[in-house]
Amino acid sequence: MSIQHEVPSYLTPRDIGPWGVYLEQIDRVTPYLGTLARWVETLKRPKRILVVDVPIERDDGTIAHFEGYRVQHNTSRGPGKGGVRFHQDVTLSEVMALSAWMTVKNAAVNVPYGGAKGGVRVDPRQLSMGELQRVTRRYTSEINIIIGPTKDIPAPDVNTNEKIMAWMMDTYSMNEGSTATGVVTGKPISLGGSLGRQEATGRGVFVVGCEAAARKGMDIRGARVAVQGFGNVGSVAARLFAEAGARVVAVQDHAGTIVSEAGIDVAALQAHVGQHGSVGGYRNAESIADREAFWDVDCDILVPAALEQQITAGNAHRIKAKIILEGANGPTTPAADDILHDKGVLIVPDVIANAGGVTVSYFEWVQDFSSFFWTEDEINLRLTRIMRDAFESVWQISVDKKVSLRTAAFIVACTRVLQAREMRGLYP
Ligand code: GLU
Repeated sequence: MSIQHEVPSYLTPRDIGPWGVYLEQIDRVTPYLGTLARWVETLKRPKRILVVDVPIERDDGTIAHFEGYRVQHNTSRGPGKGGVRFHQDVTLSEVMALSAWMTVKNAAVNVPYGGAKGGVRVDPRQLSMGELQRVTRRYTSEINIIIGPTKDIPAPDVNTNEKIMAWMMDTYSMNEGSTATGVVTGKPISLGGSLGRQEATGRGVFVVGCEAAARKGMDIRGARVAVQGFGNVGSVAARLFAEAGARVVAVQDHAGTIVSEAGIDVAALQAHVGQHGSVGGYRNAESIADREAFWDVDCDILVPAALEQQITAGNAHRIKAKIILEGANGPTTPAADDILHDKGVLIVPDVIANAGGVTVSYFEWVQDFSSFFWTEDEINLRLTRIMRDAFESVWQISVDKKVSLRTAAFIVACTRVLQAREMRGLYP
């Protein structure tokens, strides 16, 4: 592969993983960057990587150590911004890729941030509430030296939520000696959080889904939707599609796959997941044991809203959907991108489709700075406008240049980042 020589010394070629996917996406956009291509190497290496040890005392008195990361991929357009993921399979390659996708995403929707991401290699399901709090606080203390309201602003991601953001905000504030609400977003409303933030990513997926459907001549009413991942993104997107008259015909999460031709009752499924932690055991739909069979489900819209590298050359040809909305970050490999493109499937890439979350994070950060809070209607209105505008400009470029929406989004975003890079110039 052409990317072989670009493996940094701290990743083995075997571990290049999602970072390799990102590098390939950058290779694809480079021919469209004109003279800015001179700066493209900037995008192929993170600005700063911090790897930390996160030791905690377990409830049984033993000591456990977890690996933590914070990667600031780029800060040309503003402070680092991006979530923190708690997952047993988190790797440096993954956090690097996620941080880079944040750079592209923030530039694609034109919020004034660079890109960053964090992660702790831990399965939070194996921790008590006290242990989870100790992991969060120790991790925050360790990365304290590089985060801050004007430096790098974490937020929720896979397996992190507003409670964890409250602990992060408190830990940073205690270390600094003053309350700093703007250091993280996705906080509880009573601690400077924003109305609409929790739903924002799923809402953004729905908004761009409607735009994509309109351009494909597809009616949302009656459209069959399949969702992979039923967390904060998948469940909200599923609910909004169902409310608009679509039928949610399949849902898959880490513990199970359920299908129903008549449509799954999303509210009832949300209640079940709230109680049992997964879609497993849900009775009002057919449960299928073969996880791979999810890709064969007859549907119009597919929403991968779980982890990266789910849609691959191995399963892309099985997909029946006409539109794919990437609620997850990096769910489609470049090889699968090509297969689906050739089949005429419209993929709305992650860097646009799931940008609603960071967009309302931006609103939250602005509200914290001004200590003036907006209504939910104002937030949803502004979110919808930004998502539609971003989709429209990316659509135009994809038509003009005859490229996929992903490459078009990367053209818009990388041009913005590299223009800023060039205007700022190299220091010293
Ligand atoms: N984790 C979310 C994402 O991947 C949100 C990041 C943020 O709000 O900073 O876009």
